Amino acid sequence: MKRVFNFSAGPAMLPEEVLKEAASEMLDYQGSGMSVMEMSHRSKEFVAIYENAEKLVREVMNVPDNYKVLFLQGGASTQFAMIPANLMKKGGKVDVINTGAWTKKAVKEIGFFGNANVVASSEDDTFTYIPKDVKLSGDADYVYLASNNTIYGTRYVNFPKTGNVPLVADMSSNIMSEPVNVSDFGLIFAGAQKNLGPAGVTLVIVREDLVGNHIDGTPTMLQYKTHVDASSMFNTPPTYAIYVLGKVLNWIKSKGGIQGVYENNLKKANLLYNFLDESKMFKGTAKKEDRSLMNVPFVTGDADLDAKFIKEATAQDLTTLKGHRSVGGMRASIYNAMPYEGVEKLVNFMKEFEKANS
Ligand code: PMP
Repeated sequence: MKRVFNFSAGPAMLPEEVLKEAASEMLDYQGSGMSVMEMSHRSKEFVAIYENAEKLVREVMNVPDNYKVLFLQGGASTQFAMIPANLMKKGGKVDVINTGAWTKKAVKEIGFFGNANVVASSEDDTFTYIPKDVKLSGDADYVYLASNNTIYGTRYVNFPKTGNVPLVADMSSNIMSEPVNVSDFGLIFAGAQKNLGPAGVTLVIVREDLVGNHIDGTPTMLQYKTHVDASSMFNTPPTYAIYVLGKVLNWIKSKGGIQGVYENNLKKANLLYNFLDESKMFKGTAKKEDRSLMNVPFVTGDADLDAKFIKEATAQDLTTLKGHRSVGGMRASIYNAMPYEGVEKLVNFMKEFEKANS
């Protein structure tokens, strides 16, 4: 059996312990005589799996009691539309901070319901930074941002203060990688396939007063209330993905919770960024103060050399290092489950490559 260090932006590496545990239960989940994949979502075994996953989200993220935890489908992309349908007044306004492709997609969907008011954007410098000191309109239905940009490798260190206006954050690419104060947000969402588990489940954490105010005509499946009332069991939930997500959360707990994984994430990111800052060949593309701990884009400045690097790295079992198709170069995604050794191996290989090619 071979395991590589997979730097994919998502779906991404999962902790090996989690995969082994899931494998050991594949044919017979705890004496039930069946796989979790084969189980009714109404069975007592699955209901226990579901309740445990929700409990773990609450525990690991320290979610206050006045927030609902939902496990939905349709990926983070469905939330781009579901959020305005539920949190916006018809023809209302959302203040958006545009930090790249993911917030742009959200802008498009908000536009179907009302006014997507882009209050700040880093597009003027290819999204290499997070706009600071943003002037908010003050009368928006909510303020929208992405806490980490997966493509450009930027991340909020400090979130804007929005007062009574709910702050909504797409945390798809850095959820549970560092501590956040859930009560600073009206709604947090994340596709699972980077830090939480397999693709197919989307975590939504929403303050309860924001549920039930959807715009008239919102389809049943797109109303948060539907899923809150049915405890995410209105229809068949993504059962296997929720099961694995529960195991990933137990793994996070075993690493000292979010604080523990955060400290490890800092070590990994510092190792890679310190090398990028020293290197004469490789250069990180995001502004230093806004660098992501999860997605590290870098370039040599020469497309042929980039391609050679990616090819030779792959031969060393350092895989999926190609940058997003819209920006080129390289990107190392180093989510929670990427071991320190993986980043160490990458940096050592970059050093060798630089020596051999300069
Ligand atoms: N938001 C961010 C920040 C992302 O990185 C991604 C996917 N890479 C998405 C949203 C879209 O997620 P999904 O594919 O689950 O719809």
